[in-house]
Amino acid sequence: MRDTPSLKELIEKVRPYSHGKDLRILEDAYHFSREAHCSQKRSEGSPYIKHPLSVAYILADIKMDLPSIAAGLLHDTIEDTNTTIEDIGRLFGKEVAFIVESLTKLSKVEFRTKKEAQAENFRKMLLAMSEDVRVILIKFADRLHNMRTLQHLPEGKRQRIATETLEIYAPLANRLGMGWLRTEFEDLSFKFLMPDLYEELVRKVSKRKEEQEGYIKDLIELITKKLQEEGLPGKVTGRVKHHYGIYQKMQKQRITFEQVHDVIGLRILTDTKANCYAILGLIHSLWTPIPGRFKDYIGVPKSNMYQSLHTTVIGPKGERVEFQIRTEEMHRIAEEGIASHWKYKEKGEFDEKSSKYISWLRDLVQVQKEVPDAMDFLEAVKGEVVPEVVYVFTPKGEIKEMPIGSTPVDFAYGVHTQVGHRCVGAKINGKIVPLRYKLKNGDTIEIITSQTHGPSRDWLKFVVTQRAKTRIKQWIKAEERHQSVELGIKLLESELRKHNMSNALMKSDEILAVAKALGMNSLEDLFVSVGFGKVSPHQVVNRLMPEKEAEEPEAVKIRKPLKEHKGVSIRGIDNILYHTAKCCYPVPGDNLVGFVTIGKGVTVHRRDCGNLERLVFEDARLVDVEWQPADDSTANARLFVETIDKPGILANLSALISSVDINISHLEASSTQDKKGHITFIIEVRDLSQLRVLIQKISQMEGILRVRR
Ligand code: MN
Repeated sequence: MRDTPSLKELIEKVRPYSHGKDLRILEDAYHFSREAHCSQKRSEGSPYIKHPLSVAYILADIKMDLPSIAAGLLHDTIEDTNTTIEDIGRLFGKEVAFIVESLTKLSKVEFRTKKEAQAENFRKMLLAMSEDVRVILIKFADRLHNMRTLQHLPEGKRQRIATETLEIYAPLANRLGMGWLRTEFEDLSFKFLMPDLYEELVRKVSKRKEEQEGYIKDLIELITKKLQEEGLPGKVTGRVKHHYGIYQKMQKQRITFEQVHDVIGLRILTDTKANCYAILGLIHSLWTPIPGRFKDYIGVPKSNMYQSLHTTVIGPKGERVEFQIRTEEMHRIAEEGIASHWKYKEKGEFDEKSSKYISWLRDLVQVQKEVPDAMDFLEAVKGEVVPEVVYVFTPKGEIKEMPIGSTPVDFAYGVHTQVGHRCVGAKINGKIVPLRYKLKNGDTIEIITSQTHGPSRDWLKFVVTQRAKTRIKQWIKAEERHQSVELGIKLLESELRKHNMSNALMKSDEILAVAKALGMNSLEDLFVSVGFGKVSPHQVVNRLMPEKEAEEPEAVKIRKPLKEHKGVSIRGIDNILYHTAKCCYPVPGDNLVGFVTIGKGVTVHRRDCGNLERLVFEDARLVDVEWQPADDSTANARLFVETIDKPGILANLSALISSVDINISHLEASSTQDKKGHITFIIEVRDLSQLRVLIQKISQMEGILRVRR
């Protein structure tokens, strides 16, 4: 473990970049914090002040301004001691007080579960951060010191903090361009989460370094000489990939450590962009580049503003060698990210590049407002921090950045919510493509809209941006509510008719009173509940009846659809009470109709069911039904098979059905006087197409006379 720096070391660290400012605030903050924390100890037993002092030192290391470092020294005083925010404000000024208060708020929230706490904290962090970036930088330093001293905590806490660091802090540091911090967060988390694997990689990496040391040294000398000959300025260094990066690569590509070629690579830093390309040309003229491995992040920077040229060549010994070529300035941005834009600057002033990070944060905060659930939000953010992007063009030639895997629907929602909702098709480079098409770099995309269309639930299966997901879900929710209101009204009207009661009751104060009695705020809520099957129409109408006629009160119960009916929906509404009709055995894919059965919900029939005609005496009782089966759900279907009467034919039939992975839940067999076999199967099928394939197979079997449903 590193030694804790002293106050004197901290001040000497700050002095060279503080432009002669008075550093007494640091001394004051230090003494104040030490006094406040005097009765506290760190878990390993040392005085608590070591922690804020170390945090302040990390902040000085990245050249943060004086208020930030003072806030770093004071960051735990309000939470852990009797200090108030007014004390801090009076002694150290408003700015320091604001930062300390934001940091305190971040850690103060209490939640029912740890997962929730983590999500909620993260949301708070983003909010605080979008007000003042220094808050997140101090939070980062705080977390970094805690990670560096994590071995002192009990195992359970260790796991939780390391997981949170890996899942939240590392991606966030990456998204804010702080390469060094992301690397350290990842490697420390890796070390505590998978100690054995980590140790093994550490051993293997240092062995590889030893083996290749001479070779790399020769290579550096050779390139340095070539650069000089060409008059190109450049500093060549060896670079070792960080351990978690190696682990991820092994996981992603399913390869062993021995197969990872870029554990050690070379990095060339030069002065100008033009020289980056000149050096790249030189490397490619010396050795053969491996196709597909060249990446130009200078021309097209990553969304965290990372810029560099990457290439892999077959080196002098036939070995793969990876090069990264960039300017000193690009290198600084790759390592320091948002911090490089922040330091020396006054609060609230951002240069153009730094404002790009900020606008990303603002977007996230915007999403936050629209996603009330903290866990959803966390998922949203995790999804958005994936750094890989594609660049596409609007028909006007504007360039847009989209996460990798984005579809035209994602793009449409990126333009405007209404464009997303009304999107019916897309043209890529002038050609019509499916909506699930994955955008490629350089595509020119045009969205086709129609005023009469709305989003489809299916879109959720392929969209990748949180914006699209959120908007589609919102639309479906509103639509479902609308549909269930209609269904609820229909069901209630049927029930009223059954009791010869007037439809006028539907708008009466009486029914509103019933809604209130059932715990609902409005009539609409009541209709929705009936539509969703949470309240039965009987239950409502029973309460509307005069006292003496009232039937025995029905117990309040929520009837769940039977397993076999999972996935049935009426025009997009789920969770209603359904039955499939036992006269026609409908399956997904059939042309379906729903019949509103009083007190029973909806019975689903095939449109060609013979019974239906008898049942229909009122159009209003019919509803359209869509059946989108869940992945593993099945529906009962009935098959009637007529065979010649031959021993073994029933066994053969059963074997055939089982061989295509269809379960037989019931069968009846009999033989007729004219020597024919009649067999009725009830089988569990996924959908109509599976059933059709089976019917086809059975009809081709020897001895089969007829197959029908
Ligand atoms: Mn702390």
